[in-house]
Amino acid sequence: MTSCFRPLFSSLVETLFPRRCPGCGRPPATERDRLCAACLATVVPLRPPLCRLCGLELVGGLESRQLCGDCLRRPPDFVCARSLIRYQGVARRLIHRLKYDGDRVALPALREIAAGFDLGDFADCSAIVPVPLHRQRLRSRGLNQALELARLFFPAAAGVIRVDGLLRQKNTVPQTGLDGAARRRNLRGAFRTGPGLDFCGAVVCLVDDVYTTGTTASLCSQALLAGGAEAVKVLTLARVVAVGDGVGRG
Ligand SMILES: [Zn+2]
Ligand SMILES: [Zn+2]
Repeated sequence: MTSCFRPLFSSLVETLFPRRCPGCGRPPATERDRLCAACLATVVPLRPPLCRLCGLELVGGLESRQLCGDCLRRPPDFVCARSLIRYQGVARRLIHRLKYDGDRVALPALREIAAGFDLGDFADCSAIVPVPLHRQRLRSRGLNQALELARLFFPAAAGVIRVDGLLRQKNTVPQTGLDGAARRRNLRGAFRTGPGLDFCGAVVCLVDDVYTTGTTASLCSQALLAGGAEAVKVLTLARVVAVGDGVGRG
């Protein structure tokens, strides 16, 4: 298409298919925005101080770099876990669309949400591993949301994203609604490192969509450490935040 026709074509597309916020369907405020102001207002970053290990928002006068009660009682297998935002509002809706509907249309809006967050804590990671889906679930959903998010978080690091860094050997039931102990039982023995992959000495960034109790992150970390990794850092887009900090690590 010649350049003089491009604006005409764009305005025709805009007329036929007006821009809609992928969160709620209303028009966004500006040309550049994907999400409307009402949806953006539901995006809430995790608020420091955070637990040095698991990234939980600390309350009760504690300072950053201190540990939450769970990590004091039982340190996790990863050296740190960080989430960008709370699992609520438009982020929750978009993650659902990506995860359960295989809807990649949610990705640009999730990229808009994630933009601007500092991922410097993960600069020393030499391998990026998405939490895997079982192959049957991957077939039925059409995509692995953790892999899509790894690509979104680290667009310049495609070469170190290990798509098959971890394999899911058990087609477990969805974790939603299970408590910590049930999650551990459900996922026991579920993960192992991919054949022929050597994580020897690597600091690995494990990527997932949502951090709930930390069970998945812990079990994946154990598998990566058993596969030779020196340390595992966990990065999720969102974190379930319970009212009154009621979520312990399970
Ligand atoms: Zn909206
Ligand atoms: Zn903690």
